Amino acid sequence: MSKRDYYEILGVQKNADEPELKKAYRRLAMKYHPDRNADDEEAAEKFKEAKEAFEVLKDPAKRQAYDQFGHDAVNHQPGGGHGGFGGADINDIFGDVFGDIFGGGGGGGRSRGPRVYRGDDLQYNLEISLEDAVSGTTTELKIPTHVPCDACDGNGAKRGTSPSNCPTCHGNGQVRMQQGFFSVQQPCPACRGKGKVITDPCPKCRGVGRSQKDKTLSVKIPPGVDNGDKIRLSGEGEMSDSGGPAGDLYVAINVAKHAIFNRDNADLQCTVPINFATATVGGELEVPTLDGKVKLKIPAGTQSEKTFRLRGKGVKPVRGGPVGDLLCKVRVETPVNLSKSQRELLMQFHETISGENAQKHSPQAHNWLGGVKKFFDDLRT
Ligand SMILES: [Zn+2]
Ligand SMILES: [Zn+2]
Repeated sequence: MSKRDYYEILGVQKNADEPELKKAYRRLAMKYHPDRNADDEEAAEKFKEAKEAFEVLKDPAKRQAYDQFGHDAVNHQPGGGHGGFGGADINDIFGDVFGDIFGGGGGGGRSRGPRVYRGDDLQYNLEISLEDAVSGTTTELKIPTHVPCDACDGNGAKRGTSPSNCPTCHGNGQVRMQQGFFSVQQPCPACRGKGKVITDPCPKCRGVGRSQKDKTLSVKIPPGVDNGDKIRLSGEGEMSDSGGPAGDLYVAINVAKHAIFNRDNADLQCTVPINFATATVGGELEVPTLDGKVKLKIPAGTQSEKTFRLRGKGVKPVRGGPVGDLLCKVRVETPVNLSKSQRELLMQFHETISGENAQKHSPQAHNWLGGVKKFFDDLRT
């Protein structure tokens, strides 16, 4: 059965991003859904077609393979198509012959003529602040990239001349080789599978056909991104040196450490020191959030390391879901550098809460001491 082009099925451009694919697929799925089109075989077929197209195109690896090799790639090599195809196999002509046969790379007489390779994907590691990760931002990236040489329009041949067909493979890009009982089709070693050779190289790029150039890209960072998230910029990767589509650029997000907040998925955490008087009698504490200060009520008798939850003061995750909370842990600070009179006042105060009053005012210490006493008593008996 001959198949329609996946992009055509979904009615999207070749460079459609994921939201566009989703939107197109949702529209078709709604239209042709079996629940809405009972006993309509054509609708059922269309629904299946759209589902398959979406399933391939939403997966970057499968999409890449499909872009490169068409339906064969995704039907016979599920998950394949990334890595491996780029350079190694065309250079390694005397490599694993059997691997080539059974891997289905260029064998089977399927692909006649020069093979076209997609450019490499690139990754750019971008460090952003926590504030920018939470609220989103737009940033400019300067990416060193290869562009077609302007002196030869990228074909590597001196202006006025053009690359000629490779004499070894007669322009096919592939050669047949006898390996024992097998006749194996391989990329041509003379032209590295391109089918063309340059007899009169361009003086500017020395026949490479490309030059290096910085390009500036504006990247929209959606709100809620986290460490390790990647933003794909379709077609902004390395150019292809065989006339294929450019690779993609992945912007990998690295969120810088924040002076106050730690992030734990949708939640933010911070530790706030409080003085022991406030912790004892209670009071109000001003705590920072990413959008300004808020007041936090501290009840009397708050112990060190107690965590207060401020609902909805966390992060709205980039993939949806509820906004997280801010978890504020208070840490009671022991006073330091007391003067003589301060020490005396404190000791006077201490007298009033210790001894027979300890059980009432310091129940934790009292119970613990009781436990220790029992432990030694039990040892003795
Ligand atoms: Zn050749
Ligand atoms: Zn050139």
